[in-house]
Amino acid sequence: MKIGVWQIGGWEAEYLKEKLAGQEVEIFSGKLAREELPERRDFEAVCVFVGSAVSKEVIDAFSSLKLITTRSTGYDHIDLAAAGRRGIQVGYVPTYGENTVAEHAFGLLLTLAHRIYEGYDRLREKGQYSFEGLEGFDLKGRVMGVVGTGHIGAHSIRIAKGFEMKVIAYDAHPKAEMASEMGFEYKGSLEELLAEADVVSLHVPYLPETHHLINKDNIYKMKKGAVLINTSRGAVVETDALVKALQEGHLGGAGLDVLEEEGVMADEMGYLLSGDEKTDLKVVIENHILIDMPNVIVTPHSAFNTREAKERILNTTAENIISFAETGKTKNAVESM
Ligand code: NAD
Repeated sequence: MKIGVWQIGGWEAEYLKEKLAGQEVEIFSGKLAREELPERRDFEAVCVFVGSAVSKEVIDAFSSLKLITTRSTGYDHIDLAAAGRRGIQVGYVPTYGENTVAEHAFGLLLTLAHRIYEGYDRLREKGQYSFEGLEGFDLKGRVMGVVGTGHIGAHSIRIAKGFEMKVIAYDAHPKAEMASEMGFEYKGSLEELLAEADVVSLHVPYLPETHHLINKDNIYKMKKGAVLINTSRGAVVETDALVKALQEGHLGGAGLDVLEEEGVMADEMGYLLSGDEKTDLKVVIENHILIDMPNVIVTPHSAFNTREAKERILNTTAENIISFAETGKTKNAVESM
């Protein structure tokens, strides 16, 4: 098969090429996007990552396309309807070690709870060996509210239990058996969870139903001083509401690995040159305000980025491509098509 692979380089490109030995693989280090289409258009499969916007226009640019496969769990960057209309299968990586993102979520939480970044920054930038004004809070005994109890949410619950936190959860499809086995309690509504949790950690996929799941109407239902952790997708949180709730002191802090409009954050110059009118510039400004807040920690969508996780991602991706080449059906197809 003729396969174009985007947003890859170094050992990862070599590793995937080796796994796909016998196939015709072309590597592109940049994103696949409407504005960055390659000259070569005869690919039967395109392999992308988050940040590549596989829109109808991109799909239509490849007339031989039969498979789009993303090296991620989320697939909200792919126009599934446009792919479906052309009979193009979409593959993804359903799980690559739920521990990886859950560990990062707790990294963000511990950074806030123990004021780790502030202490380190003070020491390194000002040379002050002092804990004055850096009082934090214990995780032990706090209420952890996990929204979305799938692969990553379930592992977050395991970690929270290790910290001796009390865990409550909310999911559109609660798993009663898992709750009794792991010892946590499902709340009947998101609002109930928000009212009780000291920490709210989001682990839902980005879908129309989860767009701005945390918004200006419910963010004030969170406990005063509560902390919000988001490692899911930026637009699961209404940025405007988050900035206001933090500025007014209603929320105690936020740990964010994902931001709304993060594509523009990654390439502001590219945005200026392309002049994409769909971007919400107010959100981009608000993102910069969030990054500057002392009680907010932002990482650049790097929760997945461990050596072990990437090897698992590449193994599954190779399986997705090889299964399609051999049987005409990709191993891990997005079901909702
Ligand atoms: P998963 O599919 O295993 O679990 C998602 C859970 O969310 C399911 O239990 C589902 O029932 C629940 N859910 C769906 N819609 C809901 C709604 N409206 N309200 C409440 N619950 C709802 O997914 P996962 O592997 O745990 O990953 C979760 C998300 O994390 C991914 O979709 C992706 O967006 C994000 N993610 C981010 C990174 C990163 O690097 N930051 C890496 C991997 C995944």
